[in-house]
Amino acid sequence: MAFEDGCQDGPVLIVGSVAYDSVKTPFGEKEEVLGGAASYASVSASFFAPVRLVGVVGEDFSETYLAQLADHDIDLEGLQRSPGKTFRWSGYYEYDLNQAHTTATELNVFQDFRPDLPRSYRDSPYVFLANIDPSLQLLVLDQVRHPKLVVCDTMNFWIESAKDTLLEVLARCDIALMNDAEARELTGEPNLIIAGREVLNLGPGVVIIKKGEHGALMMSRDSYFSAPGYPLEEIRDPTGAGDTFAGGMVGYLARCGATDDDTLRRAIIAGSVMASFTVEDFSLNRLLALSPEEVSERYREIVGMTQFGAF
Ligand code: AMP
Repeated sequence: MAFEDGCQDGPVLIVGSVAYDSVKTPFGEKEEVLGGAASYASVSASFFAPVRLVGVVGEDFSETYLAQLADHDIDLEGLQRSPGKTFRWSGYYEYDLNQAHTTATELNVFQDFRPDLPRSYRDSPYVFLANIDPSLQLLVLDQVRHPKLVVCDTMNFWIESAKDTLLEVLARCDIALMNDAEARELTGEPNLIIAGREVLNLGPGVVIIKKGEHGALMMSRDSYFSAPGYPLEEIRDPTGAGDTFAGGMVGYLARCGATDDDTLRRAIIAGSVMASFTVEDFSLNRLLALSPEEVSERYREIVGMTQFGAF
């Protein structure tokens, strides 16, 4: 599935939720379909680099879904199957698709989950701590030897219930990802630029603030980049857009083996392209049917769309 151009710097380890989602949007409704931050991120990253997935599912988890992940060359040795039910998330969106409303979060097998990385995963050079309890993110990080790059994501649920642990994660990551509302909530600062600076003061060298359909901002101590969202006319379900963005971005960095400013900018566009496909359909349906050619074509479109001459 990945681009076959010989570029490759090593696998990406992804830890996060693998879930059954029930989602309602103004354009339809799906019950108990494949979801979870790690599922979206892994499939997205798999277009660019080999992926090692760390997570847990219950006895009720579908073999078909496992096969779909494995078909994307995602290494599932680190995905435990435990007695009990798979993590479940239910939510809905109104016409403002940037705002997810959670109706239920059932941690289920995640409640007693203690990640124990397979030996072969411990040298992973790229680590993406997708949305999950920050204490689990730390447990994973403790087991990886000298990663080249650690990227972390989170959500309001953890900002509100586990802020101190989340601050420990932020202090240990190179790139922090969050959406605009989360950056404001975490820092208590309404201005996004100031909020971004305050996140940088918590430890990461780079902060990327996702703004839903309006794109993303990247800030470091000496650089600022604003990426547009791809102008889609049909969005059916925004669930997983952020995770897909993150997976695509980290996968792209792993493929290039670099994290300089120019590569980061391209990685953000690659992540935006991946996310723009995810939202075209429910669950991972569009992502699982996507071809590398469609990805590179949309990437080129965004490049064309954002060029302008000097003043
Ligand atoms: P996103 O739309 O990218 O913010 O992420 C949506 C995904 O996050 C869904 O597929 C959910 O299964 C998953 N999710 C929702 N709440 C949580 C949570 N508290 N911890 C981990 N994953 C979650």
